[in-house]
Amino acid sequence: MTTPTRVLVLNSGSSSVKYQLLDMRDDRRLAQGLVERIGEETSRLVHTPLLAGGGGKRERTGPIADHAEALKLVSEELAADGLGLDSPELAAIGHRVVHGGLRFTAPTVIDDAVLAEIERLVPVAPLHNPANLVGIRTATALRPDLPQVAVFDTAFHTTMPEAAARYAIDVETADAHRIRRYGFHGTSHAYVSRETARLLGKAPEEVNVIVLHLGNGASASAVRGGRCVDTSMGLTPLEGLVMGTRSGDVDPAVTFHLMRVAGMSADEIDVLLNKRSGLVGLCGDNDMREIRRRIDEGDERAALAFDVYVHRLKKYIGAYYAVLGRVDAVAFTAGVGENAAPVREAAVAGLEELGLAVDAGLNAVRSDEARIVSPEYARVAVAVVPTDEELEIARQSYALVREGSSGAHEQDTEK
Ligand code: AMP
Repeated sequence: MTTPTRVLVLNSGSSSVKYQLLDMRDDRRLAQGLVERIGEETSRLVHTPLLAGGGGKRERTGPIADHAEALKLVSEELAADGLGLDSPELAAIGHRVVHGGLRFTAPTVIDDAVLAEIERLVPVAPLHNPANLVGIRTATALRPDLPQVAVFDTAFHTTMPEAAARYAIDVETADAHRIRRYGFHGTSHAYVSRETARLLGKAPEEVNVIVLHLGNGASASAVRGGRCVDTSMGLTPLEGLVMGTRSGDVDPAVTFHLMRVAGMSADEIDVLLNKRSGLVGLCGDNDMREIRRRIDEGDERAALAFDVYVHRLKKYIGAYYAVLGRVDAVAFTAGVGENAAPVREAAVAGLEELGLAVDAGLNAVRSDEARIVSPEYARVAVAVVPTDEELEIARQSYALVREGSSGAHEQDTEK
């Protein structure tokens, strides 16, 4: 019998499932897709076969009741490409799980105890962990014999020292409610920091990197020798950088001030800070392309939004420079980081004394490849490194399953 080498990666949100099927012999993507608006009348499945001769994108619209039905349809689409979930070539299903608390420092094969622990963390990740659990349960029902692996967004950050992870609030209260800084986007920070080292021709252990994951959600991390020592998101993904719709850092007193003077409820403030803030709150748009277009037309609110965004980013670069002491590279990634040259340029402008600069020509080049955009003379490399969370989840899941089947079952907590 052939050794199974394929991994299906599932990223389950509250009303969506994103998936990719990869062959781990050469990291090749065989198919990918998205089911969105699950539970609504206007659900949609978009499936893209990526094998040669697989044909183009296929789309289904119409109501999809729940995640179970969504996964059944995904399974049918994959089967139509000869890649069905019943295939003996499938080695594992890797699930993105947003919150792993402190317990999960590495990818983990899911069993009842792991499910219970992910469930126990729902109060600190009320939007994400329930959806992840539904995805896991549905996939398990479909292939109960197959290893289901959880890859946690928080795992990479569990190496943060207490000095960075602790909030300076009453210790008993914090511990009773598990209030501390966990960090998110960890799969991306892990992948990008490693790829940056590769780009520099060094081992991850040899380099210190500031990773700026700037998508609709955004976070920064300070990575010393491959280990995260600080990150900008905290108890939830609300803390830190200015994001598409989230405020990032605000004085916590804003919350009770709004309760007292505006009569807003906790839920209303939650929506304000998570959905009606950040770039969208400042100027009405959260897409950096649109903001740049408006700035070019002389729009002052768009210019303000950009300035607030970049100011915060620059502050975090400075802060993490200080945390690390020595920085080898600053790596930009995700939608904004990979594509918005003006953001990269503005974020490091004026930081020449820190050894940071971008080369205008290199920075303007559009490419899907990891690349350095700083001038030769710069002491610190400024890199653009496309993130690939699905590949990272697939690699971690596959490595874990292979380790298990070869009998070498030491728990790898060194990440
Ligand atoms: P992500 O969450 O990583 O998918 O990033 C999504 C965000 O990336 C969008 O909201 C845009 O603000 C930004 N983005 C995507 N493409 C571009 C582009 N070509 N130029 C500037 N920003 C972009």
